[in-house]
Amino acid sequence: MTEALLYLNAVTVTFDGFRALNELSFTVDPGEMRAIIGPNGAGKTTMMDVITGKTRPDKGDVFFNGGTTDLTRLDETEIATLGIGRKFQKPTVFESHTVLDNLRLALKGQRSALPNIFRRETAAERECIDAIFETIRLTEHRDRLGGALSHGQKQWLEIGMLLAQDPKLLLVDEPVAGMTDAETAQTAELLREINANGHSVVVVEHDMTFVRDLGVRVMCLHEGSVLAEGTLDQVSANERVIEVYLGR
Ligand code: ADP
Repeated sequence: MTEALLYLNAVTVTFDGFRALNELSFTVDPGEMRAIIGPNGAGKTTMMDVITGKTRPDKGDVFFNGGTTDLTRLDETEIATLGIGRKFQKPTVFESHTVLDNLRLALKGQRSALPNIFRRETAAERECIDAIFETIRLTEHRDRLGGALSHGQKQWLEIGMLLAQDPKLLLVDEPVAGMTDAETAQTAELLREINANGHSVVVVEHDMTFVRDLGVRVMCLHEGSVLAEGTLDQVSANERVIEVYLGR
């Protein structure tokens, strides 16, 4: 039926009669990264909640893995296990653990019960941790406490913790809010690298410099539906997008 990694078809979510998502349809291809923009209240968070199983749609289809898996029948844990990782806007690293221990916990914690966390890593796990540290630019910070990192570094560490679970699809909510310009530019580079390594990525973001830097397909949501889709230049030239979002 579809080769898409993620397929939403006519998804509707209603809260007390208010349509937060209104027949929302879009796909994410395997290996694709796309950015989602749109005004506050457009339905971006609700869309993420539907994909991750936090909110069940009233109507519509949400399929994963080329249409083989109906996500509306699964709970949040089952969906995470399928390889969908979600990064919320605020970083939630373990502040009193070292950066390395944060990654160790993410790598081993998913696999089994607590005692597993205290065993030594295998060579393959050490290699995996080293590779993630390179990607998230924190190799030199591995022995610092999580709480000692800058806001941007905490965001990268949390992305690294998600990578430890080797997600097929990474959902990232406003990663550069509160970052310096340099951190913002590094985050675009980091996400492009993660995407080039085969992870599909959906990024919700308001920072248009960052979205331009990502260089990916953009979708603008408004009132729970897709208002415009295309390159950033195409979407930002759309009169309705200017009216409801960019011209604010
Ligand atoms: P965005 O993330 O684009 O800002 P949201 O998905 O958070 O938009 O919200 C879409 C609309 O749905 C908003 O009008 C919001 O007030 C409403 N909404 C979201 N969650 C709930 C809820 N749990 N109960 C009632 N209304 C909600």
